Parts: sequence; C-alpha cells; structure tokens
Amino acid sequence: MVVLGLARQGIALTRYFAKGGAEVVVSDLKPSEALSDAQEALSDLPVEYVFGSHPPALLERADLLCLSGGVPADLPLALQAREQGIKVTNDAQLFLEICPALVIGITGSAGKSTVTTLVGRMALSHFEDSESRVWIGGNIGRPLLVDLSDIGAEDLVIMELSSFQLELMTASPHVAGILNVTPNHLDRHLTMEAYTAAKCRILDFQSGEDIAILGREDPGAWALQDQVKGRLISFGWSAPESGDGTYIKDETILLRLETEDVKLSPVSEVELRGEHNLLNVLASCAIAAAVDISPESMVAGIQGFQGIEHRLEFVRRIDGVDWYNDSIATSPERAIAAIRAFDEPLVLLAGGRDKDLPWGDFATLVRQRIDHLILFGEAAEKIADVINSSPGPNKIQSFEICDGLEAAVHQARRVAEPGDVVLLAPGGTSFDEFKDFAERGENFRSWVSAL
Ligand code: ADP
Repeated sequence: MVVLGLARQGIALTRYFAKGGAEVVVSDLKPSEALSDAQEALSDLPVEYVFGSHPPALLERADLLCLSGGVPADLPLALQAREQGIKVTNDAQLFLEICPALVIGITGSAGKSTVTTLVGRMALSHFEDSESRVWIGGNIGRPLLVDLSDIGAEDLVIMELSSFQLELMTASPHVAGILNVTPNHLDRHLTMEAYTAAKCRILDFQSGEDIAILGREDPGAWALQDQVKGRLISFGWSAPESGDGTYIKDETILLRLETEDVKLSPVSEVELRGEHNLLNVLASCAIAAAVDISPESMVAGIQGFQGIEHRLEFVRRIDGVDWYNDSIATSPERAIAAIRAFDEPLVLLAGGRDKDLPWGDFATLVRQRIDHLILFGEAAEKIADVINSSPGPNKIQSFEICDGLEAAVHQARRVAEPGDVVLLAPGGTSFDEFKDFAERGENFRSWVSAL
C-alpha cells in the first residue's frame, strides 16, 4: 500500500499498516533531509520511501492509497488511483470503519478543537469511575489509528474531523456535530458548495439510529437540518423552536430534553473569553447530551476550562498591557471572533498568508474597533488595501506594516498603553514565515516573554 505525505497522519497510517505486516511505500514531495524526524520515528519498521515527487509508478504494486492530512484528494495520483480502481482513503476513514467503540465526530469551520477538548473533559468526568475509557484525537493532534488495538467496545471516542478528512469519507460517526459552516479553506475547496458538501459528509452515511448536533443560529450548519436522518439536537442562544437542544436564559446554560429544561451552569462559570466560546460551550453540552453524559459531568468539564494554547491564550502582562496569542486565527472570520472577544482598547497584529478569503467584514470591524493596527507577512499589503478602501468610520490611530512577526511584536510594544490588549489574531495562515500556526504562536510567546 502507498501513503502520500509523511506528516502526523501519514506516520500513523504507515505505522498501522507496517505493523500489521503490509508492504508500505511512503512518498512525500519534500526531500528526504526535511523529513528525517519522521523517518527516525518509523525506523523500527520496514518502510520504503520515495521523496521529492509522487511518480505514477507508485501505483503499480498498490491496492490501497492513503492520504495524509495536507494532501488534496484531487491530486493527479489520487485521481489516477481511482481510475485504476485502487481505493483511496485516509486515517479517519479507516479508523471509523474499524473502531469498535461509539464515536463522536466533531467538525465545523471554527471551534472544533475547543469543543473536542471540552466534550473530552465532560466525558472524562462522566466515566471517571467506570471501566470505559475516553479517547480524544483526530485532527486535533493525535491520529487515533495508533490507538485502535487498545480501544474497547465500551469506550467512547471523541474525534475532531477536518473537512479535508471528510472529503474521502464513506462512513459517518454515530454522533456527528457540525458547529458552523463559514468561508474557510476556499483555496483548497474552491467553492462554498464544495466546502459545505465536504462538511455534510459527516452526516451522509448516518442512519435513523444516529444523532446529529447542529448550530441553530449558524445559517450554514442549520441549512443541513434536512440531511439529518436520525435524532437532531441543536445549540444556540435562544430556546429551540422545537426538539432538544441547549440555550441560554437568565445568564444560565440550559439543556432542553423532551420539553423539560435542565439547568446546567451559570454563564459566569465559563472561564473562556468571547461569545464564540460560549457558543462552543453550548455545542459541547448538546454533544455530551447525545451520549447521555450527566449534567453534573458537563458542569465539571466546564469548570476550570481555560481553553487550549494558541486560542486566545493569555501570554503575559507587561506595564499594564495584556498580550494574547490567537495564532490559530488563520481566517478573517476567526480573527473577527477573536477581536469581538475583547472590550479593551486593542492593538492588533494581523497578516500571514492569505487563503483567497474575503477580508471585507474584517476590514470594517478593524476600522471600528482597533486603535493600533500592525500588519505583517505576505498578505500585509493586500489587507492594508482592503482596510484603506473600506467604507464606514475609522478610529485607527496608527497603522504600521512590518516585514515579519518579530518586528510586529516590537512595534506593538512601542504603541501599546496601559489598559490596552495586544492581540495576535492574524487572519492569515502561518506558512509564509513558519512551519505551522503552533510554531508562529510559540515564537510570538517567546518574543513577548523576552520584551
Ligand atoms: P478549530 O479546531 O476549528 O480550528 P479552535 O477551537 O481551535 O477551532 O479555535 C480556533 C479559533 O477559531 C479561536 O481562537 C477563535 O479565534 C475562533 N473560533 C473558535 N470557536 C469559534 C466559533 N464558534 N465561531 C467563530 N470563531 C470561533
């Protein structure tokens, strides 16, 4: 079998098949030197490597082609494989096909990792004294394929799924949550229709026995109600017009089950910043309700949860200025959510690489809300043009373009005043300057710590 892409998921796939005795060839477009860590991680297994290209000859001996996370499903070699009748798959699909335990799949444009982590906390609390184990993974970091042999039928799996992983799916999880569907990754999926179709695949193979969780107030997610084959549980700000779901009333998070309301938690117990995160909490409770996690365990999961790194992560306070790292905000939509999470005067660090996404709404909000704007990286000029040509009020006091993030950090230090928040919410991806968003966030943290 052939694995394309030697990143996290490719390594997991290779390990899984090579350990199982299959003959595995791994191919990556990068040169061998760039992937020495990955080869080291697999050095205990007999694996053949082809670096620098994906030659068509790879398919000669293949009966299965597995794609790692970043590899597009419409890659010429993948198309050719399909033409030749070779099955094309990925780690998530294989996992779902084989996993003996109940699986909760979580997808959406934004909030997946936060919700996956929070549902995981609720589940861990719920199963604390039980034999069942909770497995948390997928797109969030740990490809669950490596755990497959340890997962039992009574366990619970909570799996984050990206739209790229979903593209290849021909199986759906028993419980499927779609948080929201907004423009993101349009560079890879080209149209909003194709992107929505990919997200919808999480529901396509469900049956009447399965459960779907949808965001009620997100038009993209809510439009998929017609596709729900089994039970629907929803989440949103106001009470569901019909059916089960979570909502907020009188500053309290409530769960409606068969017209009965169960009080879960006062909103004040939620330690995460931002309205979007409150929605993420509502989503998590709705998903937890689908697998009968107790209200007490939901509350236990919420309490003390301060989010995950690189997501509105507090870095430090310097001279009365709070610095926040939201390096994961890799689309304008996400940067908007991050800006909305603050009431304080803001110094915004934005930029990185553009994914051909619309910046208009971001520009309007920046003009209304940001005191000092510092743009960096490849997309800086483009974003500057959109902001300059946007209509509406403009309260930006200073506007600077820097080459890279480090220079942007120093510029922020110069302009920030006590009481301000300096926010890294780039809106663009990290690939112009860093390996990934985590490396960008780590560098940001260390440059801020050194100030
Ligand atoms: P994902 O796993 O989908 O990438 P995360 O939970 O890691 O999402 O959150 C990433 C960033 O996306 C956050 O820091 C925030 O800026 C934004 N975000 C999170 N949840 C939401 C939401 N429900 N709606 C809009 N934006 C969100």
